[in-house]
Amino acid sequence: MEKIGPFAEVIIALNARRTDRVFHYAVPDEFHDQVIVGVRVIVPFGSRRLSGYVTGFGFPESTVKVKEIAGVMDSEPVFTPELLELARWMAVNYLCSTAEALQRILSPRLLVKGAREVKQVHPALPETELREVLSSMVRVPKQAAALKKALACPGLTRKELAVAAEVSTSVINALIKKGLLTVSAVKVPRYTGRVEQPVVKTKGLTLNVDQENALSRVAGGIRQGVFNTFLLHGVTGSGKTEVYMRAITVALEAGRQAVTLVPEISLTPQMIELFRERFGGQVAVLHSALPVRQRFDEWQRIKEGRAPVVLGTRSAIFAPLTRPGLFVIDEEHESSYKQDDHLRYHAREIALKRAQLAGATVLLGSATPSLESRIRTSPGGPYQLLKLNSRVVGRPLPPVKVVDMRREVKEGNCGIFSRELIDSINWCLASREQVLLFLNRRGFSTFVICRECGLVLKCSRCDISLTYHRDGRLRCHYCNYHVKTPQLCPDCGGHNIRYFGAGTQKVEAEAGNLFPGARILRMDSDSTARKGAHAQIINAFQDRQADILIGTQMIAKGLDFPGVTLVGVINADTTLHMPDFRAAERTFQLLTQVAGRAGRGSLPGKVLIQTFNPEHYSITAAAAHDCNRFYLNELPVRRSLGYPPFSHLARLLFTHEHEEEVKKGAVQAKELLKEILSVDDRKISLLGPAAAPLNKIKDRFRWQLVIKALRREILRDVIRECLSRLERDRAFKPVVNVDINPQGML
Ligand SMILES: [Zn+2]
Ligand SMILES: [Zn+2]
Repeated sequence: MEKIGPFAEVIIALNARRTDRVFHYAVPDEFHDQVIVGVRVIVPFGSRRLSGYVTGFGFPESTVKVKEIAGVMDSEPVFTPELLELARWMAVNYLCSTAEALQRILSPRLLVKGAREVKQVHPALPETELREVLSSMVRVPKQAAALKKALACPGLTRKELAVAAEVSTSVINALIKKGLLTVSAVKVPRYTGRVEQPVVKTKGLTLNVDQENALSRVAGGIRQGVFNTFLLHGVTGSGKTEVYMRAITVALEAGRQAVTLVPEISLTPQMIELFRERFGGQVAVLHSALPVRQRFDEWQRIKEGRAPVVLGTRSAIFAPLTRPGLFVIDEEHESSYKQDDHLRYHAREIALKRAQLAGATVLLGSATPSLESRIRTSPGGPYQLLKLNSRVVGRPLPPVKVVDMRREVKEGNCGIFSRELIDSINWCLASREQVLLFLNRRGFSTFVICRECGLVLKCSRCDISLTYHRDGRLRCHYCNYHVKTPQLCPDCGGHNIRYFGAGTQKVEAEAGNLFPGARILRMDSDSTARKGAHAQIINAFQDRQADILIGTQMIAKGLDFPGVTLVGVINADTTLHMPDFRAAERTFQLLTQVAGRAGRGSLPGKVLIQTFNPEHYSITAAAAHDCNRFYLNELPVRRSLGYPPFSHLARLLFTHEHEEEVKKGAVQAKELLKEILSVDDRKISLLGPAAAPLNKIKDRFRWQLVIKALRREILRDVIRECLSRLERDRAFKPVVNVDINPQGML
């Protein structure tokens, strides 16, 4: 980039909003060639020396106080102008600092532990002060010489400085001890050369008409070289992956690169294999389970243009491609694309922004697209809808039966298993087929359900299931409405109101009693805590060393068990009554996914869903494999309550070790927000504050405020203003975390 103006514009690497602007520094002659946009530098900042990112060149308002750059950390840029633009966009939209966003984008490159660490010596005080000190150092000429050298050439190692000043390293150490020099560790990346595998171009399968049509539309978009977004809606097994790979080939032919995201790499080894078969050594795989060193190597190969095909999880969206032409997001509805701590970005949003900046195409794929994406395909919307209607191999989707648990209770069966599920399992075991039992359990929350009519109490304002608390009250975690747990069901007058929820261990125990001869495996976060246990359990089940596998949503994703002919969903209600406005959507997605696990081999499959809410549309739509039925029912609910996709929602999470402080802080924030809103009267609604469903984590109490607004800009402006006022208040204690359009609110 051209240098306009003699002063470097530097963003200080501090995660604070108050320093989130560019500072100007003069470039000493010796660094003239090294200080370019995209490198990191060391600069004096107040009384400290800090690292910063060079983002441009220009003129400060006044040159009086301008200081000089003290050192250059990189020999080549670590970010491109496009990624800088992305960081700025993230800072605005996720309410973080630009430095924080850059750090997130660059992390695998800069924080790599496998890299060689170099300790650099820098002057510890501003130059003028050191010059003064120097004049008083006549009696220690060696130290004076070393200090002079350090001022002239900051950033040398101890040994290099000693050689340059013609002194011993003990002289340097003495200066460090005196606090005149300081040592900072800088990671110097080390690239371990790797032999490229030749590109194996398997041709791939013949496409069916739907696939052909989808591909030609996407290919057209890529060749145009302008920003385009497609939503590929195809049932499980309809051949989405083949469309992705063909589209990637088109991007490569156009001289561009492609990123493909998958929700969890550990569950999709088949995808990696397919990609390697098709693209050979051009594939770079990026995910957090990789050793850091290996991740860094992959990063480097991408940056150098040797790996134009990137496959990875969420953070791979920041891959340092120079000419991205295609971003593919498989299973785009998955909540794992949302980073759920610190900087809470959504990979889909990042993909859209990067594609917009680079004139690239985004291809979102799913069997159950999120409402946010689906609604954008309506006429006049920004996405184009592509449909894959039939399964490739022609295996039909399995029949799904909904079992009414209310009737079981009425007829005296109060166990976990319905009679129909017991019969079906017995039948399976007798014919030596396998059974998958799915426990629809997320988080921890408890709700109470009327076992006679299926009623679960909800907050009338928020349409969120009320959560049971030990004090005997039911609470809404959005607006803090609470009520005493009723003795009788307000709907049917029944006495059978109970807490709900059974763990995998309880299901395992009961299955053991009911099916004494069966070999049972359990997979949950306890049984897979040990490294490799996950794969071990899956392999054992695939090898038919067990008849029944009991698990949570872990077993729902991407697994292929040809021996399974029966899938039983123990309790569809658990997700349905999560204290979250997306509860129905999550239920529909999970059930659809689970149903896709049955009958994947040559034997036909069957799915049984047990529920106390057999009429709920998320369950009936999943049973009928009918996405449209779900959307048609869910959209009016979201619209009437003003939830996404008809609004934008933010959660402010307050945490502190004293509950009083959290509560006080949350209330104060709400008052502030009200005050800010009263000035310009913008359409926003505030819910809460209320205790978060997970009220205490690691000894810190958690309270939340939920804010809804029609437009995202309004939301973030109001919150930004509120945060900066809170920052100025010294009496305000809690830590505040902002989550824009959260994927969950536990
Ligand atoms: Zn009832
Ligand atoms: Zn409420």
